[in-house]
Amino acid sequence: STVILWFRRDLRLSDHPALWAAANAGLVIPLFIRDQSVDGLGAAAKWRLGEGLRVFGEALEDRGLKLILRRGNARDVLREVIEETGATEVHWSRLYDPEAIERDTDVKSALKEAGIVAESHPGHLIFEPWTVETQTGGPYKVYSPFWRAVKDRDVDEPLPTPDLTGPESWPDSDDLADWALGADMNRGAGVLAKYCNPGERAATSRLGSFVAQKIDAYKADRDLPAEDATSRMSEYLTYGEISPRQLWAAGARAMDAGKAGAEHYLKEVVWREFAYHLLYHFPQMLTENWREGWDDFPWREDERLAEVKAWKQGRTGVPFVDAALREMYVTGYMHNRARMIVASYLTKHCMIHWRVGQAWFDDCLTDWDPASNAMGWQWVAGCGPDAAPYFRVFNPETQGEKFDPKGTYQKRWIAEGQTSPPETATDYFEAIPRSWKMEPGGNYPREPVVGLKEGREAALAAYEARPKAS
Ligand code: FAD
Repeated sequence: STVILWFRRDLRLSDHPALWAAANAGLVIPLFIRDQSVDGLGAAAKWRLGEGLRVFGEALEDRGLKLILRRGNARDVLREVIEETGATEVHWSRLYDPEAIERDTDVKSALKEAGIVAESHPGHLIFEPWTVETQTGGPYKVYSPFWRAVKDRDVDEPLPTPDLTGPESWPDSDDLADWALGADMNRGAGVLAKYCNPGERAATSRLGSFVAQKIDAYKADRDLPAEDATSRMSEYLTYGEISPRQLWAAGARAMDAGKAGAEHYLKEVVWREFAYHLLYHFPQMLTENWREGWDDFPWREDERLAEVKAWKQGRTGVPFVDAALREMYVTGYMHNRARMIVASYLTKHCMIHWRVGQAWFDDCLTDWDPASNAMGWQWVAGCGPDAAPYFRVFNPETQGEKFDPKGTYQKRWIAEGQTSPPETATDYFEAIPRSWKMEPGGNYPREPVVGLKEGREAALAAYEARPKAS
């Protein structure tokens, strides 16, 4: 029989339970549908998805298969392709955000009604959110007990790539170039492409070299934004070019081999699992303050504010913050420590709502992930599950002294004031729109848009004055 594998955020061939199910059932038609969930992506994520689809299409062609691209509502497109090909089964890897769940539930029941086998499979997570429960039942809201609940579980070894056979004739496909997934980029996509290495092969090779060379020192070095000390797996996980179980297996092997940072690495991988656990059980965390008592907090949410503009444009006058925002604009990635610092500066010193920052990250990150991004913002802002207390305000200056003592990260991303700035720093000016009116030889702000001392005091005063503390 003929089987459709509906690819979404699982653009890989190895460790792919849905693909195994499809391969075991018959001839496989790989299908990707450009529906609302794709159109709604931020500019950088959408562009990066296009890169991922291009490379994945090539990988399928190497195996004699073809990635069929169609546009429209998922249910309608699946019906059409079923009609055209006589497929009798559709398989896919599960997603956990509320919109995907609603769509997939609807698709599944429509297909079943039409007599088609419709099956969803794991793969995007190691631990399905409903399989981790507190002792009294119900979901976890705190990370440490979640980690303790999963850390000793038996995790199956990743699956190899199945043998795949396609049909004799292929249904029509859109041309990826015509989709112009990079069209929303109001920055030079060419600049971003310099820093991007998409695809399963690149992901696997990066994971291998990380485990061989860097995982030992991971715990000590992971906080240094100028170092290449973390695995850089987030982007690959976003598009499913690698599976979290492959990360888990590599980390567990490194742990057995006595590599010092390996357990810490697994703990970070489980933060992503925890984010999805929360998102699945509390989908409102995407848009609403997770903790009660925060809705009246005097955060400002107006995009036109000077502080918001300066923050987005990487010219707050606080070098660590600006370096980080520029890193994200140029590469689609920002170091984790830097994410915490820019988020703290925005939500505390500048008193801007975390949703404003979340939306900017949605638009700029190539590793954008609905669960980790929402959790990260709410965690820093103080209103999230297991959050940092609001009164713990990061000081970007002392953070810089501690984690970037030689100013390497700042020099890498801020051109102003340097006689011969590195290419990274000048790339920023290639990427930004002209309307920002910034030049590499221009002046860097003499004063921060919100002073560190005043900002901290104002934030703490607002926190003290909150009607309901929690
Ligand atoms: P490594 O240090 O090598 O960690 C390995 C993997 O563990 C990562 O790829 C990631 O999947 C997971 N991980 C590590 N730290 C975290 C964390 N704090 N939360 C959840 N998972 C984690 N991550 C995203 O993938 N997408 C986002 O949109 C995103 N937005 C964030 C927003 C804010 C405000 C903050 C504070 C954090 C955000 N993170 C996000 C989490 C984290 O910054 C990135 O996952 C990490 O920097 C990715 O780099 P890496 O792959 O080299 O990580």
